[in-house]
Amino acid sequence: MIRKTLELLIVLQDLDMMIEEISEVKRLGFNADGEDDLLQVREDLRHRIPVSLLYHYDRLKKRYKRAIVPVKDNICLGCLIKIPSGISASGRSDSEIYFCEGCGRILYWV
Ligand SMILES: [Zn+2]
Repeated sequence: MIRKTLELLIVLQDLDMMIEEISEVKRLGFNADGEDDLLQVREDLRHRIPVSLLYHYDRLKKRYKRAIVPVKDNICLGCLIKIPSGISASGRSDSEIYFCEGCGRILYWV
């Protein structure tokens, strides 16, 4: 269940980055289609994610390019601190959502 929610957040983040790229392309004076479709998908997606998590996501997204980052070899790939192995074990077990103690980003285990 948690894993599913995290997957939705990752897709939301990818979408947000695509939308940012389209805005940048437009800012440079080029035509870019598809933004409206992406915004619609984004809305649908956001409705499937718990509000409390969206709140964290939006807050983090203002601060970082990526609000949700993978953990690899017990290292947060957002800020490169070591995640305590106890948390890493629980993180893999799909029971709750963890935030990095170093940077506060939402973590997922790959
Ligand atoms: Zn971190």
